[in-house]
Amino acid sequence: MILSLLVVISIWVAVGLLVWRERAESLRTSALLTASLTRVVAERMDRTLFGIDRLLKDSITLLQAREDVHRDILINQMRVRSADFTELRNMFMLDAGGVVRISTIASLEGADLSHRSYFQDLRTGGGQDRLIITSPLLSTATGRVGILALRPLFDRSGAFDGAVAAVLNPEFFTDMLGGVMSTEVDRSVIANLNGDVLARLPGQSSDAVASIRTGPLFSEQLPRSRSGTFIAESAFDGKKRMASYIALERYPVVVSVGVTVEAALRRWTFNALVIAVAGAAFTLLVAMIATLLDRRDRAQSRAAAALIASEERYRTLVEGQKDLIHRYLPDTTLVAFNQAYADFHGQPRAVLMGKKWLDVVPEPMRADILAALAEMTPSSPTHEDLRKVPRPGDGVERWIEWRTTAEFDEIGMLLGFQTIGRDVTDAHAAEQANAEREEIYRQIFHHNPAVKLLVDPATGMIVDANESAALFYGYPVEMLKSLRITDINILPPQQVREEMAAVEREERMFLRFKHRLASGEIRDVEVYSSPFHAGGRPYLSSIVVDVTERNRFEAELAARSAELARSNAELEQFAYVASHDLRQPLRMVSSYVTLLGRSLADRLNPDESEFIGFAVAGVKRMDALILALLEYSRVGRANEDRGIVDLGEAMVEAAANLGLGSQDVEARLEVEGTLPMVMGVRGELVRLFQNLLGNAIKYRHPDRAPLIRVGCRQDGGEWVVWVEDNGIGIDSKYFDRIFMMFQRLHAETEYEGTGIGLSICQKIVRTHGGRIWVESEPVQGSRFMVAFPAVDRTAGLSKPVPASV
Ligand code: ADP
Repeated sequence: MILSLLVVISIWVAVGLLVWRERAESLRTSALLTASLTRVVAERMDRTLFGIDRLLKDSITLLQAREDVHRDILINQMRVRSADFTELRNMFMLDAGGVVRISTIASLEGADLSHRSYFQDLRTGGGQDRLIITSPLLSTATGRVGILALRPLFDRSGAFDGAVAAVLNPEFFTDMLGGVMSTEVDRSVIANLNGDVLARLPGQSSDAVASIRTGPLFSEQLPRSRSGTFIAESAFDGKKRMASYIALERYPVVVSVGVTVEAALRRWTFNALVIAVAGAAFTLLVAMIATLLDRRDRAQSRAAAALIASEERYRTLVEGQKDLIHRYLPDTTLVAFNQAYADFHGQPRAVLMGKKWLDVVPEPMRADILAALAEMTPSSPTHEDLRKVPRPGDGVERWIEWRTTAEFDEIGMLLGFQTIGRDVTDAHAAEQANAEREEIYRQIFHHNPAVKLLVDPATGMIVDANESAALFYGYPVEMLKSLRITDINILPPQQVREEMAAVEREERMFLRFKHRLASGEIRDVEVYSSPFHAGGRPYLSSIVVDVTERNRFEAELAARSAELARSNAELEQFAYVASHDLRQPLRMVSSYVTLLGRSLADRLNPDESEFIGFAVAGVKRMDALILALLEYSRVGRANEDRGIVDLGEAMVEAAANLGLGSQDVEARLEVEGTLPMVMGVRGELVRLFQNLLGNAIKYRHPDRAPLIRVGCRQDGGEWVVWVEDNGIGIDSKYFDRIFMMFQRLHAETEYEGTGIGLSICQKIVRTHGGRIWVESEPVQGSRFMVAFPAVDRTAGLSKPVPASV
């Protein structure tokens, strides 16, 4: 603004100077013009007066040379000579008394002009030989105005002797001035040295008597210099005028040509106006430019302020970033970076600045990085990659996503790079975990032989289905995913929805439905369904098991079991009835054979008595067998309720039943530890131990007293109880056979028995959900093992059994 003000001031100073100079120039030009015109007039004036003066001098010479010169000759010569001068009106000669003696106009001769001031001047001139020029004078003789040029005459003694005069036409002077008048020159004057105006343009009526004696020319200029130019207020019209003047050297005449200052400056006024207008226009232009510049400056300063603010914002933004922002030269010399980047390096900013970051990159990575940087061009100035790098600060490996932008100048020279690194380790880990979960889901859901459906419980839409489902239902997976569960479940949709709602409420997770396949076939399915939420939406995950075959099989099995149970019952009924009813005739046979034996006792020879004895024994054995059979058939049909049975107590009772511990039985029983509680029928369990203990006593070794050891151990989900003896033992090839009905390893005569005891044991154990087997070493002894399903691990219900009874 100040600058433009200065420019404007300068412009106007220049305009002022220019106008001033122009004014001075105009005045100078006018001065030159008036001076040269004045000179022209002066020269012509001088020449004319020279001619007139010559004429006067010649006339004087003529007069003085010949005193007796004849008046007529003189007049004639005057006439002849004056004919050469158009300006010359007439000539005459005055005598010392002022009377006209000789005149080219005869009527003038004799006229007394002694009263004329010029005559007075000549007479009192002190003998000075000079030319006098009068003011325009009215001739009384001719009645015309004329200007007289006079020269005095002197006699031989040098005394005044009259004068010679030439009368000049004033118009001649006026014409002489007219030649120089122009638009430039508005006033010109010729005057004698008295200040009498001889001629003047423009003319005035009073000119005849005008005098400029008191004007500035005569009062100021002429006393100083014979010629010059000056500016002064005109005595005639009061206008300021510039005038040049010359006082002729030889003649008493002053010539002056003038122009009003106004006229002299007319051109200048116009020029000054033009200059001023130009100056004003220029000022306006400058003002406009200044305004525009100012506006631009303001806009620029606003933009600069905005830029600074935005730079500041950018800086704070960059500083606040967790991203690793850094700028560097082509050789990776760091020139700028944010705090996060410095922290990443674990170094103070001042230390890091100016370092090449490539130096801290592990050697094997460098080539790759340099290649990536070198590949960047002005048309492709960006590069992105994901790299796992050791954090220079602590060496911890991080996944960083690097985004690099190369910067080029306008001719494509590489200036440097800016890189933004984002630590995506966590995101990467999360991504990998997601991918793993996806894979797990894919494996569990899709790559699975089980038929799986994912259902939206709100709409019933099948959201996802696996290949097994596609195979089972006969629809492609994509098609399955466009179906609703109600499209394949044959139940009414409302009921299906209710079932799904129950699953969603986790009231049910196992459902039985009938599903329709693409072929139209209806299959029985079991659906294991569980609700879960993912992404805020509920889903039902269902495993569909085709149980059509199993159902059919189960139905068949059930029918067969029913049939079997019925026939078993029939058989058992038959066995019971048979064994029960068979004993009656057996008893009769036995009684009557015994009676027959007794009545025929003295008549029978020893062989016959022995036969009768065999018959009775056979009958008894048959009875025992039937009894055993009866007992076998009763196992599992006991009236007694099932309950928790303390095996320790059952063992004690069985031992007591056998009379173990009494004087009659020499066998010893040792129980180790505490026998467990099992779920079962007490009477049958007593029976089981009774059979096992009984056999241990029966199959004793002949050389040693029987020792029975009872023990137990928990083995997984079962209790194993054993009864071990030191008897004759069993060959391992009979281990299975001994549990079969009526299978015995010894003759009846050797060891009494029916071969059904262990069969009963096995039946009891099986009806209790257990197993029985034997371990034995012949001659050493046998160990019968019984495994029961464990009922309760808390030992609160069991009671210790005495170590020995
Ligand atoms: P029984 O004892 O009436 O013959 P079991 O069914 O009780 O019928 O036994 C079948 C067979 O197993 C017996 O004949 C015997 O040979 C064998 N046996 C059973 N217990 C023992 C044992 N503790 N020691 C040796 N052998 C035995």
